[in-house]
Amino acid sequence: MKEIVKTAVPMREQPAGERIKNFDEVPFGYNEEEAIKEASRCLQCKNRPCVSGCPVAIRIPDFIKKITERDFQKAIDIIHETDSLPCITGRVCPQEEQCQAKCVVGKVGDPIMIGRLERFVADWELKKGLKIPEIKKRNEKVAIVGSGPAGLACAGELAIKGFGVTVFEAFHELGGVLTYGIPEFRLPKEIVKAEIERLKMMGVEFKTDVLIGRTLTINDLFELGYSAIFIGVGAGLPRFMNIPGENLIGIYSANEFLTRINLLKAYKFGEYDTPVYIGKRACVVGGGNVAMDAARTLIRLGPEKVYLIYRRTIEEMPARKEEIHHALEEGIEFLYLTNPVRFIGDENGHLKAVECVKMKLSSETDESGRKKTLPIPGSEFTLEVDEAIIAIGTKANPLLQITTQGLKFKPNGQIEVDEYCRTSLKGVFAGGDIVNGSATVVTAMGDGRRAAMAIEEYINTKKP
Ligand code: FAD
Ligand code: SF4
Ligand code: SF4
Repeated sequence: MKEIVKTAVPMREQPAGERIKNFDEVPFGYNEEEAIKEASRCLQCKNRPCVSGCPVAIRIPDFIKKITERDFQKAIDIIHETDSLPCITGRVCPQEEQCQAKCVVGKVGDPIMIGRLERFVADWELKKGLKIPEIKKRNEKVAIVGSGPAGLACAGELAIKGFGVTVFEAFHELGGVLTYGIPEFRLPKEIVKAEIERLKMMGVEFKTDVLIGRTLTINDLFELGYSAIFIGVGAGLPRFMNIPGENLIGIYSANEFLTRINLLKAYKFGEYDTPVYIGKRACVVGGGNVAMDAARTLIRLGPEKVYLIYRRTIEEMPARKEEIHHALEEGIEFLYLTNPVRFIGDENGHLKAVECVKMKLSSETDESGRKKTLPIPGSEFTLEVDEAIIAIGTKANPLLQITTQGLKFKPNGQIEVDEYCRTSLKGVFAGGDIVNGSATVVTAMGDGRRAAMAIEEYINTKKP
């Protein structure tokens, strides 16, 4: 039996003191020797538990084996069988809860670093130049609404199948959350652009600044001759706390703050048109990836102090472990078991403080399965902050619900679909966050691919 090597090959990264002065990617990625060494730790288990942890069931042991054989082309070909965006999933998947959580080596030491290995071969392919498959063109056209990971994956699969594909995007830039949400230091935009370039080379057409539901309706798209439509519009409408003072100047939703920074380059105001306020002492409210991204973006922009206010403990934080670790290393102060109760303004209507209350965990759980929290009476305290970012989640934008007759939605505003991503409207399919709520890149991408297969079948069996 193969001897188990318990310690993973570490990933080199920018030291915390340096990286808080720039927006460059934090981890450098494995080089060839490091990747082969890490891949060699894999036990090639016959029952493949890691595969069951991957939402798109990548043949993990097989691609890892190819890395040990230095056959990187074959490794990436295996990944591409089910993953359209490996440069992205290798970086941002919550691997520690998915594929790596199931790795048997993780029971005695560090699991095999599957995400880092995936990133290595995907970056290797990107450096070498992406290859475009041979495509046999068909006459039918499909419209994709939204250019996030769901839309991009669906577009890629349909283009390979030969359909004419047009992606309609509301923003002036493509990529959805990959572009306007996840910051450069976690996901360099060059990578997202390269994936989009590959789709363009495959013949996918992109139309930006088109808001479906306003510029054109779903029905208009059928009238324009599209045989089927995929809706991948995400769920980007921010939720607020609904507490006094939330409208004060200096308070942003995380969505607006990150969009100003990532998409509109507000931190280069002067060179770019959009401003953003950066306070002296800032707080971010929330404990997910979005909260970590907002806090880690803020700390790079110069406040003296950045607090992260979270009503539960670090154990319940939904953010990726790696992001929590990086945020703590970068000097963000976490205030656990704490909840804001009101924001306090100065005479000019600008935020000057937040009043918080300490919380305790209850033995009861909420609908998400996490412990409920209760305020501790008399534990209120005030924190001086002149900027606050609210990162407590997002929901579906109601625009399509208002403007699309016959399309069925759940009470929470998400589109109803069956297992093949089919909606209640004939020829209309949907996937990603607009169906699942705020989920992950890999689930959105998986939905896009599944929908593409269902769209092909729908068009093939459609009566003329
Ligand atoms: P989106 O990525 O939201 O894309 C939807 C696109 O549709 C957008 O471009 C939008 O402008 C466009 N659109 C919306 N309405 C219309 C319309 N009416 N007409 C035309 N276009 C429209 N997931 C992870 O797996 N790992 C992470 O580390 C991670 N970090 C995250 C960090 C942040 C800050 C955020 C916000 C999310 C993060 N997520 C992460 C979640 C992940 O990004 C989403 O689950 C994923 O992007 C959903 O993909 P999507 O294609 O469904 O939607
Ligand atoms: Fe793991 Fe995500 Fe890659 Fe699947 S796509 S193997 S979950 S990193
Ligand atoms: Fe390799 Fe871990 Fe998967 Fe086993 S569970 S095949 S050791 S990655």
